[in-house]
Amino acid sequence: NKFEQLGLNPSILKAVEEMGFTSPSEIQEKAIPVLLNEDTDMVALAQTGTGKTAAFGFPLIQKINVSKKHTQALILSPTRELCLQITNELKNYSKFEKGLNPVAIYGGASITDQARQIERGAQIIVATPGRMQDMINRNLVDISKIEYCVLDEADEMLNMGFFEDIKAILSHTPKEKHTWLFSATMPKEVATIAKKFMRTPIEITV
Ligand code: AMP
Repeated sequence: NKFEQLGLNPSILKAVEEMGFTSPSEIQEKAIPVLLNEDTDMVALAQTGTGKTAAFGFPLIQKINVSKKHTQALILSPTRELCLQITNELKNYSKFEKGLNPVAIYGGASITDQARQIERGAQIIVATPGRMQDMINRNLVDISKIEYCVLDEADEMLNMGFFEDIKAILSHTPKEKHTWLFSATMPKEVATIAKKFMRTPIEITV
């Protein structure tokens, strides 16, 4: 099993086996060892369906300190559907990792319920930019201590007009965090985000 050569811990390997993944996809093979072993920013050009969620999800889960309850990672994604899909995937990946709690934050649902979930401890928040910005403004969420920020489908988020929200959200995060940007295409706006908010990212294309 080639997953065993990527440096993943036993609980993730157990989840991989249970999900029936037999070998890593190209993006997983390229990104996972780098994200696990190097504290780096990354720009990855990858379409949906390539297994990119696990490419950032496995390293994130492995790097989170489950004995601490504060928010350590933020994943921004363009839509409610994608947000829920990523959260579900993360729950599957971390099935054997006791105490890890990913929470989905998105518009069109009760903000009170979402705030309550965060209060109970959300080491990983998966959010759409609009609702995330709203919750920051209302002081319902604290992302001042995150260590990792994933911008998933960055081109889609910018197409949907989330540039200002993303900028505002990132301004509430520490400078020392690492940012992993995933995008299917690299239009000017995505390059601008990468240049403005990332430090010498490693680039990967599949
Ligand atoms: P994604 O591109 O992250 O949206 O993943 C697309 C689908 O492929 C999801 O349903 C994943 O659960 C599945 N998947 C991800 N990695 C693998 C793998 N290495 N082997 C088989 N299926 C996978």
